[in-house]
Amino acid sequence: GKVLVSGASGFLGAWVSRTLLEKGLSVRGTVRSDEKGEYLKKLFASFGEDKFEYAIVKDIEADGAFDEAVKGVDAVEHTASPFHYNAPDPQALIGPAVNGTVGILKSIVKYGSDVKRVVVTSSIASIMVPVTEPTIWNENDWNTFAPKIVEEKGKDATPGQKYQASKVLAEKAAWKFYEDHKATSSWDLVVICPPFIFGPIIHEVSSYEHLNTSSHQLYQTVKGERSNEELVKPVSSFGDVRDVAAAHVLAIITPEASGRRFITSAGPYTWQDWLDALADSGLPDIPKGVPGGSKGITHPTGYDSTLAKTILGLKFHTMEETAKDAVVSIRERGW
Ligand code: NDP
Repeated sequence: GKVLVSGASGFLGAWVSRTLLEKGLSVRGTVRSDEKGEYLKKLFASFGEDKFEYAIVKDIEADGAFDEAVKGVDAVEHTASPFHYNAPDPQALIGPAVNGTVGILKSIVKYGSDVKRVVVTSSIASIMVPVTEPTIWNENDWNTFAPKIVEEKGKDATPGQKYQASKVLAEKAAWKFYEDHKATSSWDLVVICPPFIFGPIIHEVSSYEHLNTSSHQLYQTVKGERSNEELVKPVSSFGDVRDVAAAHVLAIITPEASGRRFITSAGPYTWQDWLDALADSGLPDIPKGVPGGSKGITHPTGYDSTLAKTILGLKFHTMEETAKDAVVSIRERGW
C-alpha cells in the first residue's frame, strides 16, 4: 500500500515517512519545494528507488491543494500544520491548520477513492485547559479555553494560546467533517494527540534558528540558556519523535483505532530532568544545572496514555534515550 504524508519535510513528518517505509509501505510525501523533496528522496533512497516519492503542495490552504496528491493512496497521515510562537495574527496559524485539514479531507472525498483511513496529527493543545489543581487529562477532554480567549483577544492572546487554538479548531473541524461524511465515505478517522515531541532530527533544517520549535526549546536548555529557577519548574509532557511516528503508523494498521483520539505521552518534564537525563550520556559540554533539583515535584498537568498502550500497543523510549539521540543529531549539524 501507499500512504500520503503531508508535511513530510517536518520534524515529525520525516519520521512518520521513515517509519512507514520501515514497515514496507510506500510513501508519497507533500513538501513545499523541490529542494525539500529531493532531500527526502536521498534520505530514503536505501528503502528502494520507487518507495518514496514527493508531491509539491505549496499552499495547503488553497482550494483543491491536495486533489492530485491523494490520488491512488490507501491511507493519509496529515501532519502539516504551523507550529511556532511568532505569529502576531492568530489567523496565520489557524488558517493553514483548519483549512489545510478540511482541504485534505475534501480532496479525499473527491479524488481519494482508495483511502481507507485518515490520521490527523492534533496535540495535547487540543485537550488541556489551564487549571489550578493538578489534573491528569485523557482523550475525553477538550481545550475549550484557547479558541475563546483567542476570539476575545485576537492579536493580544499569548503565542501559546494562538497555537493551541489552531490545533483545537483544526481537530474539531476534522471530526465534524468526518461525522458529516461518514455515511458515504470509504475511510475513517484517527487522531493522534502528542505532547511536546523531542528526539533525533532527520529532516532538512537550514539553520539553528530554523530548528523546529520543540527541538529548539530542548537545545536551548543544553546550551545553558535557562536560569536555575526556570530549570526546576514544571514545563509540560513529552514523547519521543520515534514513538509518536510509530503511533501514526499503528493508527493506520490497527482496525480498533477507528474513530478514536490517542494521547502519546511518555510523562511530564522539567528542563532540569533533561539535563539530569543527559548527565550520564557521555556527551561533552552538558550543563549540570541543579542536579536532581526537580525530582518529585508536583506537575500541574499529566496525560493518560493508556489507550495508546492498550489499543495501539505503543511503547515509549526512555528520556535518557530521547535526550541523547536528540543532542547527538543536533550537534552533528554543527550547532
Ligand atoms: P515542523 O515545523 O518541523 O513541521 C511542520 C510541517 O508542516 C513542515 O513540513 C512544514 O513545511 C509544514 N507546514 C507548516 N505550515 C505550513 C503551511 N502553511 N503550508 C504548508 N506546509 C506547512 O513541526 P513538527 O514536526 O513539530 O510538527 C508536525 C505536526 O505535529 C504539527 O501538526 C504540529 O502541530 C504537531 N505537534 C508537534 C509537537 C511538537 O512538540 N513538535 C507537539 C504536538 C503536536 P515546511 O518544511 O515547508 O516548513
